[in-house]
Amino acid sequence: MRSYLSHLECTYCGEAYSADELHTTCPKCGKVLFARYDLKTARAQLNREALARRPRGMWRWFEIMPVRNPDHIVTLGEGDTPLLPAGRLGEVLGSDKLWIKDEGLNPTGSFKARGLSAAVSKAKELGITSMAIPSAGNAAAALAAYGARAGMRIYQFMPQDVPEMMRKESYQYGAHAYLVRGLINDAGRMVREGAKHKGWFDVSTLREPYRQEGKKTMGLELAEHFGWTLPDAIIYPTGGGTGLVGMWKAFHELEQLGWIGPKRPKMIVVQAEGCAPIVRAYQAGQRHAELFPNAHTIAPGIRVPVAIGDYLILDAVRASGGTAVAVSDAEIVRDMREMARLAGVFASPEGAATLSAYKRLRASGFLSPDDVTVLFNCGSAFKNAELIQAPTLPVLDPNDPAWLDQVA
Ligand SMILES: *Cc1c(COP(=O)(O)O)cnc(C)c1O
Ligand SMILES: [Zn+2]
Repeated sequence: MRSYLSHLECTYCGEAYSADELHTTCPKCGKVLFARYDLKTARAQLNREALARRPRGMWRWFEIMPVRNPDHIVTLGEGDTPLLPAGRLGEVLGSDKLWIKDEGLNPTGSFKARGLSAAVSKAKELGITSMAIPSAGNAAAALAAYGARAGMRIYQFMPQDVPEMMRKESYQYGAHAYLVRGLINDAGRMVREGAKHKGWFDVSTLREPYRQEGKKTMGLELAEHFGWTLPDAIIYPTGGGTGLVGMWKAFHELEQLGWIGPKRPKMIVVQAEGCAPIVRAYQAGQRHAELFPNAHTIAPGIRVPVAIGDYLILDAVRASGGTAVAVSDAEIVRDMREMARLAGVFASPEGAATLSAYKRLRASGFLSPDDVTVLFNCGSAFKNAELIQAPTLPVLDPNDPAWLDQVA
């Protein structure tokens, strides 16, 4: 078993770099680097059925993952999450072609596990011993968990209002955690400065080439699930955009391998009305998104006012014939409950936002009931318990003969 990783390539200026030295962003232009593989050779030697037969988990795609030596893999069993028919939720919405990819079942309760399993594994291979991350909470928790397994020192910088569970997780995993008076982009600036002085390796979203290699496995799983075709639409809650960009990259690689054809899903970005830089840039016809002022939303994972991969997200959305939608916090809260009540999925606010977007796009006619559509529930609501306003429950007295009268 060997990885066909060949080099790193700048997505902006095209410059090539070695994949066996440390890199963050492109030294020449400062933009995003992608891992590239020798897919011509891989095409002649690999067979998709063989990969499909391996034990479950994202590392079964080893040959098109960036780690050279399998001994360096740091895993907690991430990937191969359920792809669920929306069932009763689909019935209510009049479509039997609606699916939910439940990423909340990953280790640490979000799809950040995929990206950070890949990043920590590659960092281990390159001899890194301390890593730092700016995070809305889930990425920090995932880095802390994988870092704990790898025996690395982990530094994390999170907005002050980070959900309590994510803060507690980081503590349990033994990370050095700090709160920041500001948003994730402010935390990102601090990590970059700290990295210079303290020698941490910076694993910010898309400023490090390998997190998206983990997230691209979501796209590989979709292709496999649908019998080596792709759905008509994917709705993705977009913060830094790693997953959307990663899946788009996966589809390209699968076509190069001859495993799928040229058909692509409409890639659909959903953001919150209070923080919608990509939606704004999409509507304005721009390739780069400006910093979104006064960013606010109850969905921490998509409270990302500025994204280094803006052009990668917007290029994928446009090339795929997708779109970008902003939804309100009220719709998100409503749809967290609806996903739970009708589909049995305990969705994070970001995951629920994909349902809000789906409803809007069905109402506008952009999507039809016949479009095979995948909603990404990217995390578990176990982490966002404070957003759920459950009423106090009636308390029954077992010695009261009339207790049953109180039951509906
Ligand atoms: C990080 C995160 C997102 C955004 O993911 P990106 O790939 O960075 O855009 C969405 N939802 C949740 C729960 C997250 O943790
Ligand atoms: Zn460059």
